Amino acid sequence: MEHYSTLAFVLKQEPIKEQDRNYTFYTQKFGKLAILTPGARKIKAKLSGHLELPSLVQIEFAMSYKPRLISALEKFSFPEIKKKQKPLTAAFLMADLADKLSLEKQDDPEIWKLLFNSFYFLEENLNKSPQVVDFIWLYFNAQFLEILGLSPFLEGCTECGRTINNKFFSFEKKGVVCQQHSHKDDWPISNNQKRALNKLFNFSLKQFSDPSCLKEVLEEKKYIEKFLSKFTLVIKSDIINL
Ligand SMILES: [Zn+2]
Repeated sequence: MEHYSTLAFVLKQEPIKEQDRNYTFYTQKFGKLAILTPGARKIKAKLSGHLELPSLVQIEFAMSYKPRLISALEKFSFPEIKKKQKPLTAAFLMADLADKLSLEKQDDPEIWKLLFNSFYFLEENLNKSPQVVDFIWLYFNAQFLEILGLSPFLEGCTECGRTINNKFFSFEKKGVVCQQHSHKDDWPISNNQKRALNKLFNFSLKQFSDPSCLKEVLEEKKYIEKFLSKFTLVIKSDIINL
């Protein structure tokens, strides 16, 4: 049986039978992988504590009908994130989105990079500026959709193309619309909200080390939270109905 080795982030773990566990990883070389850990208790000494979310681990697994875990070596445990509930919740939300929106065994360097950068950004900055906890989840959510090629259209009315006075957002059309082309289900959207969303979808993490940039996004936090949650739901149902 062939053995493989790769760096991986733990996305999820679930017990299957008494001693068996199923881990879902996002791996650097193979993308998302569900890996069976038979008799987790037997190899507990070797594995436990290393596989708690969020963790960066070096895993070795055998590829059979279902991949089986052989070993996991912790590379980084993100101790600051694990100390408090709020950053931990953000990390869980990020892992859950990566789990739900990525396909198994399809490696995507962009998703790997986003997970890597977002977890490290949170770990390194959460004590310096606590508001990054709110920010990182919004950024991760927006960037994940961007990588999938599913970002909202924010430039001109999706119906007529006019670029001014697009004060509504249509979730059905996935873009802004002008008054004339708006329907009753559309959400109002302000210029500041559009600008903040544009930044989340298009800026690199580095650009957010500028506090004014971060502030601009967080001033619209409530709207953006609701917007991304609704937009992601629409995307998920599109994916399911494909
Ligand atoms: Zn229009």
